[in-house]
Amino acid sequence: MSDCIFCKIANGEIPSTKVYENEDVVAFKDLNPQAPIHILVIPKKHYNNVLDVEENDSIISKIYYAINKIAKQEGFDKEGFRVINNCGENAGQTVMHMHFHIIAGKKLGEGIV
Ligand code: AMP
Ligand code: ZN
Repeated sequence: MSDCIFCKIANGEIPSTKVYENEDVVAFKDLNPQAPIHILVIPKKHYNNVLDVEENDSIISKIYYAINKIAKQEGFDKEGFRVINNCGENAGQTVMHMHFHIIAGKKLGEGIV
């Protein structure tokens, strides 16, 4: 997708503070952090959101494996963290390239799960 900001981050056209990268996935710091640690994990390939994921596609397990690696690499695995995926208008998805927020570094409230 030529006009997609996260595609441009994935291919290096737009700078980001990367914390993890492999063949399929890239993770970088959110520009507007909602917690001491706020990382976005995205597939390099463009998906609008989870509604584009097919049954035998392994991208979601690849993303969660990356989250596992990032938690240990960044040292917040033991204290815990939250993963959030906004899908569509009611959830407030603003960037139409599937992404998973990792929120960590503080005690999180009990609102909205
Ligand atoms: P969402 O509301 O789930 O679509 O989240 C989009 C997130 O992308 C927001 O938390 C933004 O702060 C973040 N964001 C937008 N542009 C950038 C960027 N260029 N680099 C890092 N994070 C960004
Ligand atoms: Zn994209």
